Amino acid sequence: MAIKRDYYEVLGLSRGASEEEIKKAYRKLALKYHPDRNPGDKDAEEKFKEVAEAYEILKDAEKRSRYDRFGHEGLRGSAAAGGPGFGGFDLSDALRSFLRDFGAGFSFGDLFGEEGREATGPRRGKDIQIKLPLTLQEIASGVEKTLRITRHEPCQACGGTGAKPGTTPTTCHTCKGSGRVKRVASSLFGQMVRVEACPTCHGEGSVIAERCETCGGTGTQEGKATVSVRIPAGVATGNYLTLRGQGHAGFKGGGRGDAHVLIVEKEDAHFERQGDDIVCRLAVSFATAVIGGEIEVPTLTGRVRVKIPPGTQSGKVFRMRGKGLPHLNDSRRGDLNVQVVVWVPEHLGRSETTRLQELAKSGRLDPPTELIPRRHMSRDGL
Ligand SMILES: [Zn+2]
Ligand SMILES: [Zn+2]
Repeated sequence: MAIKRDYYEVLGLSRGASEEEIKKAYRKLALKYHPDRNPGDKDAEEKFKEVAEAYEILKDAEKRSRYDRFGHEGLRGSAAAGGPGFGGFDLSDALRSFLRDFGAGFSFGDLFGEEGREATGPRRGKDIQIKLPLTLQEIASGVEKTLRITRHEPCQACGGTGAKPGTTPTTCHTCKGSGRVKRVASSLFGQMVRVEACPTCHGEGSVIAERCETCGGTGTQEGKATVSVRIPAGVATGNYLTLRGQGHAGFKGGGRGDAHVLIVEKEDAHFERQGDDIVCRLAVSFATAVIGGEIEVPTLTGRVRVKIPPGTQSGKVFRMRGKGLPHLNDSRRGDLNVQVVVWVPEHLGRSETTRLQELAKSGRLDPPTELIPRRHMSRDGL
């Protein structure tokens, strides 16, 4: 792995920089290196990731203070070093951190105004977000999923140009193909020149005399695609995977956008997730609780045998090490915590009732105390 640069240096800041300064520096650099503005530029992508990682650490007071005291070493082994996503700080983490703090639904046109927009050239297609519900079983083992995506595909009739087949778009006469016009306005300070999108071609630089009838001139049409995606074991709601180049088709030959697959965990009827641990409740008969026994329990990853020692109280929790969920991207596993609940039969026949009454009369079924001392209500569940 490459040696990491100092986070302050990455953002061009001094060590005493304020929160506001960190945010401003990051925003400026992230916009400069954003993949949408530098399509295909690997160097810019690396820089984009680097500034996002620096930002993620320095904006968090706790991680920042650890970094200030111990450097990169201080973040090792914590999620901080890897960032919020799947292990290492990858492009999807960086994109997410940017989107989170600078708003979803934002477009570069809005931020840069018309000046910064590549109005006449090819335009990259928009990203798609897909929610992917997963069962706990799928999360436990990892899964390969086939997703059906509805997305813009290049129009087959016009090949994506938007012009009627057999015709070609012509250069806009208003802006001579630049997509921009200068507008002179008078103000108190004198004349001001502003550059705006060309009103004739809406910034495209070219006009279509006759539109393609299939796509109405947009160059794209709605289509369906199937994409398969491999989900690693141990993911959680909020994690997402970016499928590069699987989003909407671009305009005029621009690349496709990305598809972001957002993980959503489905609620399970029996198992509850607590981080990497799984909790479930196991009903045992009164007799098993008293004399002990072995019970086979279905879990997320197959059946396990639980030994119930004699005299097991209702509420007792048995921790089964390593039978929980795998930790994302490493070999650790959580535990399965099985809580025993002594099942009380709702209906008994006459003879069973008589026998139970005899047993009760002996006093051997009586609890030793009426109120259970608080020290017994600890981690064991009772
Ligand atoms: Zn078309
Ligand atoms: Zn024009």
